[in-house]
Amino acid sequence: MPGKILVTGGTGFIGSHTCVVLLENDYDVLIVDNLSNSNVEVVDKIAQITGKTPHFTKLDLCDEKSLTDFFTDNPGIDGVIHFAAYKAVGESSEFPLKYYHNNLLGMINLLKTMDQAGCDKMVFSSSCTVYGQPDVLPVTEDAPLKKAFSPYGNTKKICEDILQDQVGSTALKGIALRYFNPIGAHESALIGELPLGIPNNLVPYLTQTAIGKRESLKVFGNDYNTHDGTGIRDYIHVMDLARAHLDAINRLISKKYKEEYEIFNLGTGTGYSVLDIILTFEKVNGVKVNYEFVDRRPGDIEKVWADPSKANSELGWKAESGLEDMLRSAWKWEKSLLK
Ligand code: UDP
Repeated sequence: MPGKILVTGGTGFIGSHTCVVLLENDYDVLIVDNLSNSNVEVVDKIAQITGKTPHFTKLDLCDEKSLTDFFTDNPGIDGVIHFAAYKAVGESSEFPLKYYHNNLLGMINLLKTMDQAGCDKMVFSSSCTVYGQPDVLPVTEDAPLKKAFSPYGNTKKICEDILQDQVGSTALKGIALRYFNPIGAHESALIGELPLGIPNNLVPYLTQTAIGKRESLKVFGNDYNTHDGTGIRDYIHVMDLARAHLDAINRLISKKYKEEYEIFNLGTGTGYSVLDIILTFEKVNGVKVNYEFVDRRPGDIEKVWADPSKANSELGWKAESGLEDMLRSAWKWEKSLLK
């Protein structure tokens, strides 16, 4: 079954791990990335891990002409896994147009050029942010979508709609994967999350604090209605997430989909609080983390975790790694950056 897969944003965090899994499963992988938030050296690391070198093209999806040329120069692409997008929630509120421009135009250009090239399968990288604070937990794919808290979240919601509409009017088949909180790194510690500047997300901030790059981890709020007052999320190992992309593209290529547009939650089904994360990290890695409680972060929700049963039964996918494994690999990755 394997064929040729275009991975947009393939040098980024989730993209790079997905490229590894695709190559290990005999897909030919073509990466396009504008390197706005990643490094081209990741291509070599992917090759080191897998023994196969993905084809890399530096390309911005907003540049329609280059994208059209890319599809002309690379005929026979069987499917696209679309990661390339800006993803900083806070920055998106500061510069909404930057986010709407990049994330929406990238999606539109990609779907347009795919259509021209006769490429009719897309797996889209979406987010549980589309649910906002759900009324019922765990959250299923049928939960009503809430108004997005940030322009970033809104671009995910709008891109899902664009994909669904395009599926409705062309031969395209699409799968949107709604990720919960991806953390961890490949066990080799050759690839991982590389936040530019001060990290926004909990685990990179935590590992940078543990290693001494940051003075103190700020825990945003300890007065939530949770077991210890801190916010709860469903953390998922990035390698588990990467495997789900393989399952999703396999489903499209083998025509096993039940509907031409499908949505899957990707989470473990278990929620952990910020303090659970800190204490587990300290325990499994034998290091202390300096942390302090501060006010809630504007726009944060109290708690969310997935009902992943649709992905379990339909995709035949299940998250395998536990929290300890995730936090061990995150620490190994942070330490590898010192070398
Ligand atoms: N968080 C925190 N300190 C940080 C970053 C995050 O306490 O420096 C908390 C945040 O309030 C949330 C959880 O950690 O409860 C996960 O936040 P993250 O930004 O990683 O992901 P989100 O779920 O907000 O997309």
